[in-house]
Formats: sequence, structure tokens, C-alpha cells
Amino acid sequence: HKRIVVIGAGIVGCSIAYYLSKMGQRNITVIEQGPLFETGGSTSHAPGLVFQLSFSKILTTLASQTVETFKELSTDEQRSFYPVGSLEVARTSERLEDLKRKAGVASSWGIEAFLLSPQECAEKNSLICPERICGGLYVPSDGIAKPLHAVDKMTRFSKECGVEFYGHTEVTNIEVTNGQVKAVYTSAGKFEADVIVCCAGFWGPRIGEMVGVTIPLQPMAHQYVFTNDLLELNGETEETATPLIRDQDNAIYFRQVEKGLGIGSYQHEPFPVELSDITKYGETKEMPSVKPFTPKDFEKPWEDAMELIPALKQAGIKKGMNGIFSFTPDGMPLLGESQAVGGFWVAEAIWVTHSAGVARQMAEWVMNGAPTVDLELCDINRFDTYACSPVYYKQRSIEEYEEVYSIHHPFMQRKVSRNMRVSPFYMRQQELKAYFNEKAGWEQPQWYEANYPLISTYEKKMVIRKGWSAEYWSPIIEAEQLHTRQYAAIYDTTAAKKRLEIKGEGALQFLQKLTTGNIDITVGQSIRTCMLHERGGIKDQITVIRKNISTFLIVCTGAVEASWIQKHVPQDGQVVFQDVTSGTCSIALIGPKATGVMKSVVQRSDLSRTWLQGQAKTLFIENSSVLALRDSYGGMESWELITTSDQGLNLWDLLIEQGQPYQLIAAGDRALENLRIESFSLKSGKDFWSEHHPYEVNLHEMVDLTKPVFIGKEALLDRQRKDSETVLATLILDDPSAIVMGYEPVFYGETALGFVTSAGYSYSLGKGIVHTLLSQAVHEEMVLEVEYFGQRYKATMMTHSPAVV
Ligand code: FAD
Repeated sequence: HKRIVVIGAGIVGCSIAYYLSKMGQRNITVIEQGPLFETGGSTSHAPGLVFQLSFSKILTTLASQTVETFKELSTDEQRSFYPVGSLEVARTSERLEDLKRKAGVASSWGIEAFLLSPQECAEKNSLICPERICGGLYVPSDGIAKPLHAVDKMTRFSKECGVEFYGHTEVTNIEVTNGQVKAVYTSAGKFEADVIVCCAGFWGPRIGEMVGVTIPLQPMAHQYVFTNDLLELNGETEETATPLIRDQDNAIYFRQVEKGLGIGSYQHEPFPVELSDITKYGETKEMPSVKPFTPKDFEKPWEDAMELIPALKQAGIKKGMNGIFSFTPDGMPLLGESQAVGGFWVAEAIWVTHSAGVARQMAEWVMNGAPTVDLELCDINRFDTYACSPVYYKQRSIEEYEEVYSIHHPFMQRKVSRNMRVSPFYMRQQELKAYFNEKAGWEQPQWYEANYPLISTYEKKMVIRKGWSAEYWSPIIEAEQLHTRQYAAIYDTTAAKKRLEIKGEGALQFLQKLTTGNIDITVGQSIRTCMLHERGGIKDQITVIRKNISTFLIVCTGAVEASWIQKHVPQDGQVVFQDVTSGTCSIALIGPKATGVMKSVVQRSDLSRTWLQGQAKTLFIENSSVLALRDSYGGMESWELITTSDQGLNLWDLLIEQGQPYQLIAAGDRALENLRIESFSLKSGKDFWSEHHPYEVNLHEMVDLTKPVFIGKEALLDRQRKDSETVLATLILDDPSAIVMGYEPVFYGETALGFVTSAGYSYSLGKGIVHTLLSQAVHEEMVLEVEYFGQRYKATMMTHSPAVV
């Protein structure tokens, strides 16, 4: 058994020790600086509201698994969970629309939820004044968690399995040798460790510093008050019996606490807290995780609260606090093993709501090499270097706090920490009046206002977007998409993927082990293949280009995949790994005229020989040394051109200049995405992820079972023998004016069969097109429906690729 040390005995640390024990792991020690188990961390005062449903599939899954665990641990004598249900109320018509959308994802993610009228909301919780709301979303399985009760149950079990808990013991340092953790130093001595799981809550960054790993979270104070008793709750005997209420338009939430209420508010200005300002346990009367209440900040939330719940007027506030917990730059938890230090695992920035679900997945990850559900969006390695700057993660976490209850459009952009990374084409893109979004820190053009005149050319064909789908959108996108189909366009793909160079004597052997395809291709060839994790799930779909006999360029999805590859690099010096993303840039030249443009910029001798699809060559385009890959995108001719950042601008200018006779334009990422969707191409991380294996998502061709070994092979063979749980299907929306955005549920009659992954518009068919993940096979004759804002749209399964216009 590995020796595992868990740092922190809050809900997260205790749940992880519990799940590791349940899975048979022994040799676990939990170290806690405060007393056991009311430690003084965030868990000690967590009011425990559990709203499971979110637009994020993974967070909803983790929350449902938490509810499942807490319910299992609940007994009549000691309740760990009160399934009282929840009501999210809408004060505005915009919010009501958002709740309709949320009711849709409830069906997508398999959570029971009901849209209720104001009167029906008041029937569920009679404290609500129905005149103040437009409606609400009721989730019966939500409720109140009692984390300390759950901790009590879990730690009893863990102790029986031999887990040792040390209270009043502070971790002061960590020993790392050859990039691998060795021991934990504490106020009570040294503990040898093969694996350390950092569950130190908002103290996490301090533990990270001990091993040189950035844990990008920001401690933030958040207001929570207890009211005096309400006459209306006079007869109550339970601690809590009425549904939770969330009034997101006013950034407040409510729960019953015996005869009174507990009310939390995100309305105030964010209060970031510095770790140096946090007291040690016992230094003051308050717990370290509690700052003094600032009543002035609660004046407006209190007025809003009384408006929604008039019974509060006679109750008044009993006491309040500004409690501290963690925020991250993207609102997601920080999970997994750090790429930089072997054996250093992190489980940070986790709400009680997701705690036991996270613990279950973390235990599987530590013990089996991968979790059951895809945790890419929570992976600690998802941040590039720029995101490890304290300025960045503080600014972004504050913004995250401010926006926590906002209505989130999928294309909504971040306001702070912009212009962190720009491609060499940025200057020209600004001249073309690009509308930028941020992607992995890069400014990425979505469309160019300079292309506005194209609208009049394509107007007749273009679909008119309205409402939600027209927000953060421009008809220029449709024009760019249509123009690419007719002529050609260049797309800045610098931000879209990561570029890695793998070289050395052992490079081929390493890549053979890492991927499912046969990488022993001729120099100048490329191959699209999969990387699987240890349990046979798809870690990523990548492109490998053999530049010379022992040098390969890998194009993978992002930082998580890049760090995964790096982690597997053998330490014998035979393989050199280099992330060349920031030092390079890439342009995709796409369209029926793309090869014409290429012919006018490269030496004739370079194009004179047969250059087949999938072949790559390093050549000169004027003075720029460019790696050119002939490909196809959206069923069209395409060229991927990769060069160093210093040469990028020259390349761009030359293409634009020489492309003029071909009507070449620069076009943005949204058009590129639409071209992908309408041509049936699936994207790793978007249409399938590590929960799926290649046979499930039609990637058989990328697997070469004749290879003796590759990571995940055994598990894949095992999974292949079982029935698949997932079916991919592409559907066409019958109504030509219908457009959806992604994650909408797909119904057959009243049964939700699954959900939309990517959604776009096919100009060849003149209809909306969606990729879906379904739980059962469908066929063309079945009348399927996609639900969008509460409306059902008829959809038909497609059996063949749409013709290219
Ligand atoms: P903690 O409970 O803080 O545990 C971390 C532990 O690590 C601490 O006990 C600490 O003492 C220990 N530790 C740190 N450093 C060291 C060291 N060097 N050596 C040894 N031990 C160390 N979540 C919800 O889901 N629903 C809610 O309704 C909700 N409401 C909230 C309201 C308020 C006011 C606040 C502040 C938080 C709320 N949360 C809510 C968030 C939730 O409380 C936290 O996210 C959760 O409790 C975090 O659990 P944890 O185990 O990660 O952290």
C-alpha cells in the first residue's frame, strides 16, 4: 500500500480518507492543524445548502454523487442530509427564461426539476410572497447537508479501517526528492508519504508553496446571517423542513434554521482575504475562517430579503458573519496530481455541495489511475504559466465572485485580465476590427467587423438569429462561413490547440506507448490518433506529425493534455519534451481556393510533386520557414501553416496579399466552429470526453490493436466487450429557422434520451444541425425533439454527411 497523507480534516479531506478506505486503501494519515472535527475551516460553519443543478455537467454529477453519499450516511438519530427540495425564484422575465433553459439541462443531466408558477412556489414554501416573483424552478432532490454529521459518520468508518487522524498538528513543510514527494513535516514530527492529498481549503496555496506548485485560488469572505425566530415557523420541530430558496437576481439565498432563517448574500463588493491576515486557531474567539460581520454591507440584501419574504420584517437579524471560502479564476475546483511534483495531489476549492462526489472520484483517480467521470475542467494542470500569476488569479476570482449569480451566456466574455497572450497577427486583426474572445489566455478573433460588407452578398442564404442565440453574435459569422465555402479564408488557430515537440532516440517508442495509432509513419506524414487513460477512456484526440526520424510535432487540445503527455515522458534522457506553443503560431487556410492561394505563395517545386492529404513539409514561404500540413476541414481543402512567432506577421501579410485574386478573407473562430459542426467533425472535450472510449464514438480507425502495448489497451479491450452506454447521433432540426446552442435535452416522446453537444447551422441543408450523445440508438423514422427554452423542436437523425455547398 502507498503511504497516503491527507492534509486537512474539513469535509473534503475526511471524505477522501473515507472513499480511499472504502476502496481498500490502507496506510492513510490525516493531518489537521485545528481540533478534530470542528476544525475552524470553512466546513465548520458551512450552512450546507445543496443546489445540485448547474449548467456544468460535471458539477451537477459531482453534486448528485454527494447527495447520494450524504443520504447513505444519514440516520434518524444523526441526519447528514435533509432532502427538503429547492426553489430558484425568478424576479425578472430574463431570469425566468434562464430557468427554462436550466429546466432543459436538468433533463439533459438527469435531474428531476419542475418550472412552477409564483403561486405554486408559494405553495412549496409559504414564506415566499408570490407577487414578487415571475416563477421558479423546483428541484425536489436538493436539500441541506450537515457536513459535520457526515464527517462524524465517515471518520468512524475510516478509523475502523485504520486511518489515523492527528488534530492540532500543523503541516510545516514537505520533502520532495527527484520530483517526487517523500515526507510531510509537521508540528508533531515527520510522516513518510508516497502520496499527499492537499485538502487544506483556502490555506491550500500555502501548502502548494512548500512544493513549488501554484494553487490558483483566492480566499474570499462571504456574508451569512441568522435571523430571529419567525412567527410563521412557530410550529416547526425539525431543524429544517422547508425548501431552500435562491433569489439570484438579488444574489441572496435562504434556508430554514429551526424557527428562523439563514440568509447568505453575494451582493456586497467582493472581500478578497490575504492568507497573512488569517489568524491561527485559538488566537481569537472566532474561528480562523470567520471575519467580523460588516452590517452595512447587509442592509440592501436585507431589504431585498424582506421583499421576497415579508415575514422577516418582524424577525430581524440575530447575528452574522463574513465567512471565508475559496474562489478560482474559472469557478471550478482544483483537482488531481500536479504535473510538476509526483505524488502531490490537490483537492481544493470544493463546496460542500460537491465534496463527497469529488472524494469518490479522487479516490478512484489515486488508486486506479483515472476517475470514472471526466474531470478535465477541474484539473489542477489546466492553467498555463500566465494563470499562475497571483495578479491573474486574484482578479479573475474576484470577477467570478461578482458574477456568481449572473445569467451566464455561453459566449459571455471575461472583462479582467485580458490581452495576456496575443498571436503575431494581433496587430492586423485589430486593423480588421476583430471581435475577440479569450481562449487559454490568448485573444482569439471570433469574427471581423471588416467583413461586414459580405453580409449583403450572402444575406439571402443567411439564417436570422434571434434572442439568446443572437447575443454575443454577429451575422458576419454566417457570411464568413459561407464565404469560406465558396472561396477561402485564413483562420488564426494559434490559440486553438497546444503544439508540443517530442524528440530524441526514445521519441517513437514513447509515442507508440502513448497513443492508439501506429506512429511509425514516414517522415513528412501525419496521423490523427487517440491517447487513452489507464481505464481506456479518451484522454484526447491528437495529430502527430513526423518532422524527421526522431522529431515529432504533437497538436493536442490544451494544457491538461500537454501536462499529461509530459508526465509520461520517460526519465532516461532518451526523450525531450518541449511545449512550443507560445513560440509558434498557426494559420488554417481553408476553402475551395485554398490550394490556389498556396500555389501563389510557395515555390513551384514544392507543390509540383503529389502532396497528399495528411502530408506535411517544412518549406519556405518567402522568408518564413513554415511547416505546412495538407488537410481537409469541413470537407474542404485546407492547409495548416505553422511557423515561429517572429515570422507570423510576414506570413499573414503575404497570404492576404497573394490571396486577393482568390477573394481570400481573414475569418473568425465561430465560423470555423460552424464549418466543423456542419461537416460532422467531432471534437474531443466537446462531443466526447474521457468517459468514452474510441469504439463508442466512432473512432475505431484511430485504434491499432496490432500494437503490442499502449496505455489503456487492456481496459479498452475489456470495455469493448461490454455493451456501449452511449450512442452518438447527428440530428437536423426540421424547422429551418430553429437554432439551439448546446446542452439542450433530446426527447423521444416524454423520455429524455440524452443531450446536444455541439450545435450549429448547415448551409448545405438550410437547417440547424446538432451532434448529440444519447443513451440508446435512434433511427431516421423516430420523431425526436430538442427542447430549447421550454419549446420542443422536431429533429431527424442524419445517416450521412451533409453535402458541402
Ligand atoms: P476546510 O473546511 O476549510 O478544511 C480545510 C482544513 O485544512 C482546515 O480544517 C484547516 O485547518 C486545514 N489546514 C489548512 N492548512 C493546514 C496545515 N498547514 N496543516 C494542517 N491542516 C491544515 N458550500 C456549499 O456547498 N453550500 C453552502 O451553502 C455553502 N455556504 C457557505 C457559506 C459561507 C459563509 C462560507 C464561508 C462557505 C460556504 N460554503 C458552502 C462553502 C463550503 O463551506 C466550503 O467550500 C467547504 O467547506 C470547503 O471544505 P474544505 O474541506 O475544502 O475546507
